[in-house]
Amino acid sequence: MEHLDKYEVTTLAYDVPFPNNYTIPFHILEYGKGCYIWDKSGKAFLDFGSGIAVNALGYGREDLAETASEQMKKLIHVSNLYTTEPTLELGFKLTSSGNFDAVHFGNSGSEANEAALKYARLYSQRTKGEGKHKILAFKNAFHGRTMGALSCTPTEKYQAPFAPLMPGVEFCEYNNEAELENMLTEDFAAVIVEPVQGEGGLDVMKAGFAKKLNNLCKKLDVILIADEVQTGIGRSGFPYASSVVGLEPDIITLSKPLAGGLPLSATLIPEKVNKLIHPGEHGTTFGGGPVTCAVANKVLDIIFTPTFLTDVQKKGEYIGVKLQELVDKHPAAKQVKGLGLLRGLEVGTADEEGTKLAGKIIEEAKENGLLLLRSGKNILRIAPPLVITEKEIDKGIEIINVILEAL
Ligand code: PMP
Repeated sequence: MEHLDKYEVTTLAYDVPFPNNYTIPFHILEYGKGCYIWDKSGKAFLDFGSGIAVNALGYGREDLAETASEQMKKLIHVSNLYTTEPTLELGFKLTSSGNFDAVHFGNSGSEANEAALKYARLYSQRTKGEGKHKILAFKNAFHGRTMGALSCTPTEKYQAPFAPLMPGVEFCEYNNEAELENMLTEDFAAVIVEPVQGEGGLDVMKAGFAKKLNNLCKKLDVILIADEVQTGIGRSGFPYASSVVGLEPDIITLSKPLAGGLPLSATLIPEKVNKLIHPGEHGTTFGGGPVTCAVANKVLDIIFTPTFLTDVQKKGEYIGVKLQELVDKHPAAKQVKGLGLLRGLEVGTADEEGTKLAGKIIEEAKENGLLLLRSGKNILRIAPPLVITEKEIDKGIEIINVILEAL
């Protein structure tokens, strides 16, 4: 294609047909195998990012490709006027993964959260009456870019150009029990919270805070939504990170790794909410299609087994120890954050200098064949495919070690 000629001799795309939301140049990637990705020039990268915590089973999965291909030959799409066996199977797998009565399928994390917010409001309106519609979210949270989810994502840069947002959302400091107690009243329909703040700095929810959230939400009949879009489906070493931190949510939202890299989301809802919903009150065209659900069934069959999850727990502990060694050795490495295979290494200070330092490390890591993510300002985020080996962890940590050594 004529437009693609200009990319022939480079792995970097400067002239792209995408909105100016993204950092230019784009790096053109070509294929992957296991925890490695190759770019157009044939250079290999060890992936500590999984396409932002998505590719849980790694790259080049023949089993997932075959499942998708077999299903595509039968039916690709039916709409939610009908259903298919892969969708039913996935629905039952997810409802039986906790105390849930139904699953609302969608296509992205934002959509999963939109559904959660809508169902919580519906519940509140039908049980408490009009006007109890407020939503409590948290500072440094990330719930998505659509208007409802964005309204619960208090980052100035993301929100400001799109005002006015959804009214009635208030923000509490994460892990601050006293502030939570002061703010939450029965005027709220829902609390939406991440067990680990994936984008906002990898703070992990404290046990006392989880307990306070559980108790207050029960007492005030406020729907407790756990956004597990980033933490869910095994990344913590358990199906859901809520269970690790002691959170007892009414609703769980899932997406990123659910269909092994295909777009799918799930909003798991309890009976008390489901029984109040009437036909046509919410819906989706693509959500829960047979291809994504067939692949998700395969993904869950692999991840939701004790041996797989125990292995993730072990590797999570291992990477925690390795990161702590970096903190003990290098003055620029401040602390280890996160849990399981969603980890952070805080570098420098939470200001412009720390932001630059994290950017420099991420850039140099890439030059040395390691893909890293950022969380917050100055935290290197590590969210590798869950199938990573200890040897691969060692290799990536050594790349970071050499960069920190040379600072
Ligand atoms: N919630 C959380 C916790 C996330 O990390 C993200 C994406 N980073 C989202 C929601 C939004 O997901 P999506 O980009 O698929 O809409």
